[in-house]
Amino acid sequence: MELIKLNVESRCDMHLCRNRAEYRVATGKGGLSALFGGGGLYLCRDCLVKLYEAMGKELVPKSPDNVIKKAIKRREVNENK
Ligand SMILES: [Zn+2]
Repeated sequence: MELIKLNVESRCDMHLCRNRAEYRVATGKGGLSALFGGGGLYLCRDCLVKLYEAMGKELVPKSPDNVIKKAIKRREVNENK
């Protein structure tokens, strides 16, 4: 999954949005490539921000501290086997 800045004229794919798309969310060659009609999801900047904010409410970024703690815990579990 990657975000590509568009340099071609295209319409935003978001329902009822009439802005010009500035970005494309490409799904790559994986199993999801057929999603959004194969070419990716075209989004204007407004919709991209809205989408990002909506995702941000659901997906809280992991703090590096927690990731380290988890890694240490996992190692301890392995050593105790
Ligand atoms: Zn839009």
